[in-house]
Amino acid sequence: MGHAASATITRMAHGLNPPQQKAVDTLSGPLLVLAGAGTGKTRVVTYRIAKLIKSGIEADRILAVTFTNKAATEMQERIRSLLGKKTDKQPVACTFHSHCVRVLRRQIQHLGYPAKFSIYDRGDQESLARSVLREIRVPNETLRPGDLLYFIGGWKTKCIRPADAAAVASTDKEHLAAIAYRRYQNGLKQRGAVDFDDLLLLTEELFTNFEDVRRAEAALFDHLLVDEYQDTNGSQYRIVKALAKDHRNLCVVGDDDQSIYGWRGAEVEHILRFASDWPDSTVVWLENNYRSTAEILTLANRLIAFNKKRHPKELKAARSGGQQPRIEQYPNETKEAEGVVADIARLLRHPEWEPNDFAILFRTNEQPRAFETELRRTGLPYVLVGGMSFFDRKEVRDVLAYLKLIDSPNDEVSLLRIINTPPRGLGGKSVETLTKTAVQQGKSLWTIMQQPDIVASLPDAGQRACEELRALVEMFQQRFENESMVDAMRAMLQRVDYESEIKRLYDKPEDQQARMAALEELANALGAYEAKAKKPTLGGFLDDVSLGGPDFKDEKDKQLKRNAIVLMTLHSAKGLEFPHVYMVGMEEGLLPHHRSIAVEGEAIDEERRLCYVGVTRAQDYLTLSMALTRRKWGKPRDTIPSRFLFELIGQAENPHAGNPATRQRPRGAVRKQKSESPPAQPATKSPSTTGKPSTRPKS
Ligand code: ATP
Ligand code: MG
Repeated sequence: MGHAASATITRMAHGLNPPQQKAVDTLSGPLLVLAGAGTGKTRVVTYRIAKLIKSGIEADRILAVTFTNKAATEMQERIRSLLGKKTDKQPVACTFHSHCVRVLRRQIQHLGYPAKFSIYDRGDQESLARSVLREIRVPNETLRPGDLLYFIGGWKTKCIRPADAAAVASTDKEHLAAIAYRRYQNGLKQRGAVDFDDLLLLTEELFTNFEDVRRAEAALFDHLLVDEYQDTNGSQYRIVKALAKDHRNLCVVGDDDQSIYGWRGAEVEHILRFASDWPDSTVVWLENNYRSTAEILTLANRLIAFNKKRHPKELKAARSGGQQPRIEQYPNETKEAEGVVADIARLLRHPEWEPNDFAILFRTNEQPRAFETELRRTGLPYVLVGGMSFFDRKEVRDVLAYLKLIDSPNDEVSLLRIINTPPRGLGGKSVETLTKTAVQQGKSLWTIMQQPDIVASLPDAGQRACEELRALVEMFQQRFENESMVDAMRAMLQRVDYESEIKRLYDKPEDQQARMAALEELANALGAYEAKAKKPTLGGFLDDVSLGGPDFKDEKDKQLKRNAIVLMTLHSAKGLEFPHVYMVGMEEGLLPHHRSIAVEGEAIDEERRLCYVGVTRAQDYLTLSMALTRRKWGKPRDTIPSRFLFELIGQAENPHAGNPATRQRPRGAVRKQKSESPPAQPATKSPSTTGKPSTRPKS
């Protein structure tokens, strides 16, 4: 048998090589595993946790922090299978954000927030931003809510608080945003709410300003392990330190070459200075890559060598041989999609491959559309990971707003969302009266709606509606506590008659069905949560939903578990592996992204790391493709092949191998290459008799 068989054996093998074993056996003190892609870093983390538990450490004294919900679930599963079913206590494996939620739920009152704070999602943030801008009379043309959130997000990831934002603002827009930032932050606090970035910032603030809180939180665990440490930002870095400095049992693993969140404030220096931060640390290097074929690794090594600022290291293939990666050129983006999908369809006729052995990876969110169209046309099963989120759908957001209101009635954003949805006689005028009074009296809208004198000033229908909402919230606060939450949710939907609202808004029966199905899916998520959580509460479910954000855990997991071709961005592919990887749109402007081309330097290096992440996801087969023309605003434009293609196949000058002068003009070099010699043969191909991809370009 060929390749797939050996790949399967590799994937099932249970061993550890000597340096991996050393890392797993180092059970205390600071430990750094700095190693390239696919060398078994995540495997080390899971095996080490299992070993700690076997050596007598209580499972629930171990905290493992990973970057995505998916990685956290996977880690829990892997540990469970390593230990067998017998353990009742589980190690805590979660993301930074979800750990911070737990800390804040216990401690946030020290910062003047209610313990029952709500977590604002993007939509909530936008409505707050809009009202802040309205308060300070900034017209939409000057600064849109989205722009404001962009600035605030940028500041928050760099840990710049409102007081310091004005100092770093340079343009007029930024100054305005800095003023609005303060109001936005106050607005959150007034509403008892935090946004996603606050989860980290406030946790850090707690640990810095309240030593006893830090000590108490640190004392909950004896071991801390962090995967993908290269992507920690300043707050995360300091949170890790605060949690680990008493017990010093800190194990971090990562790869400086895969640092791809610099744009969100991650600093690769954190991993590079680990050994000086923790002077007595053990450092383990791993070199053998167990994931990919030697042919794929040759390309990966060649590419990443173009980055100057890095720990020099080479991936060594533990697997021998393999097919040459291919580069395909197509006349346009439609043909690219057709070509890639046809290739997958052809391979799928062979029993050895399943749809979920294939991943199509892209750089931007606009790219998958052509592929989706083609996959739908051919009827192949696929999932788009991280597309328009289930939780962004109107009906889902409405019902979540009801749940949030029941959980905490002072959540004004949620209240305003559903105050007249479905219509109940609280029109714009009445709502305005109520909100104005709330602002004047400095009370929450909900409190105002309970004051008889104020309610009496509303028209009859408005009075009835206030009473109705109050009764609804009270009744369901009881029911969610005392009975199955799924049943309570169903009863609530009936009570507000949300189905009629759907029928009112959508004419077509299939639309109505799809909307109701989405709500059913929400009920399923609630049911799954109820079954899984130790002490299920409505608040706990809502936390889970907010933390999952655009890639809610169960939803995304279910997608990935379905046997379907995976479409995802390079960013979300981090840590994963697939037998067949298609990296599409290998063009200047897409990868590297045009924003980074504009600034060059570090930004291009980060794009190169992103490309490296993509290449190293492939286990057996890698196909890189590009379109020679691509539509922009409806018009086909000529494209330029990505500079990374030339670097990958050795047609560009390697800075470590020779003349650095050529490196100064990579774009020129690429353009010249394009007109004279394309990086590979065009996409005309003869289907090989084996059904396996044919060997392609020379390297
Ligand atoms: P990435 O940098 O992409 O996150 P990683 O370093 O975390 O990669 P893993 O995902 O842990 O690497 O491992 C890559 C693959 O190699 C997995 O399929 C894993 O099971 C396998 N593997 C790791 N170590 C060994 C080993 N000693 N023997 C056999 N297979 C191994
Ligand atoms: Mg990993």
